[in-house]
Amino acid sequence: MTRALVVTTPGDREVLQVQDRDVPLPDSREVQVRVAAAGVNFIDVYKRQGIYPIPTPFVLGEEGAGVVTAVGADVTEFAEGDRVAWGQAAGSAAELVNVPAAAVVPVPDGLSLETAAAAMLQGMTAHYLVESTWPVQAGQIALVHAAAGGVGQLLVQLITGKGAGVVATAGSDEKLEIARALGARHLINYATFDGDLAQEIRRVAGRGVDVAYDGVGKATFDASLASLRPRGMMVLFGGASGQVPPFDLQELNKRGSLFVTRPSLGAYLQDREELLWRAGDILGQLADGSLHLDIGGRYPLEQAADAYQALEGRRTTGKLILTMPQ
Ligand code: NDP
Repeated sequence: MTRALVVTTPGDREVLQVQDRDVPLPDSREVQVRVAAAGVNFIDVYKRQGIYPIPTPFVLGEEGAGVVTAVGADVTEFAEGDRVAWGQAAGSAAELVNVPAAAVVPVPDGLSLETAAAAMLQGMTAHYLVESTWPVQAGQIALVHAAAGGVGQLLVQLITGKGAGVVATAGSDEKLEIARALGARHLINYATFDGDLAQEIRRVAGRGVDVAYDGVGKATFDASLASLRPRGMMVLFGGASGQVPPFDLQELNKRGSLFVTRPSLGAYLQDREELLWRAGDILGQLADGSLHLDIGGRYPLEQAADAYQALEGRRTTGKLILTMPQ
């Protein structure tokens, strides 16, 4: 048996319940893990609300980290006692889980399981966005919205680490200070700024930006597009403020042969090699201190609704995690 965070029916946070659930033995290609921490992510909100429809009831959560307690008959890469983490395994918000071994990576010595759990989904997302969706080059300028958020803080560090500049936006001056400390050169508080946001982005950057990383979506999409230089790349990777409505492709023509993409992590984790590359880079940089991850809050399973309320209410910085008794 395990305690698990269950979505009882699609809806708001009151549909969340902590329930006791049976955990079968791991199947031949799974590992069973005693979870130390599970990540709190926007995708959990979309799943709970039914935006990504899933038959209820189901256990929430995508990512986590913990210690292997049993392995399936065909698993050769992991053994009991190994410290592991994953970013994409449905049903991770529980004390004991079975996870496909193919989704699991080792946690480097010296890195806490909490940090590993916090880093997997957002870290690999920031990694593919700057390495693969638009390989950022030194001297470029990138726009990063919600720059003090989970993905945002990692994006700022990875982009500036390549010698590129960042125009950071955020909803408060305190959040902007976080982005500045991580290396963002140009700061805009889009909650208090009441002019033309795209013009302001171009003004502080000194020109149109090369790439716009936009996980805010509905509220910022138009300004992001209008802030790009000719042939720049619009990367819409989420909709924290709502989904972007249908859009006229002629806008890309009028604004100078722009590109637009709506990527998702799954498409950038095509095989085990790609998973080990992205997770290895991120966990390795966290372990050696070249990347910083801010855990903005720790919640027990029973208080998960409070964690999601904070995330959905724009009250968080960095990453929230659910912690399990060990
Ligand atoms: P964040 O920690 O960035 O939290 C979201 C932030 O968005 C808020 O803190 C807030 O920052 C900003 N925001 C602006 N408007 C709103 C609004 N109306 N409601 C809530 N938040 C708002 O979250 P994550 O780092 O977990 O995720 C960021 C985005 O990345 C999400 O859209 C998520 O879905 C997406 N994502 C996409 C992935 C992919 O592969 N495509 C994978 C992982 C995440 P502020 O107050 O500064 O405006």
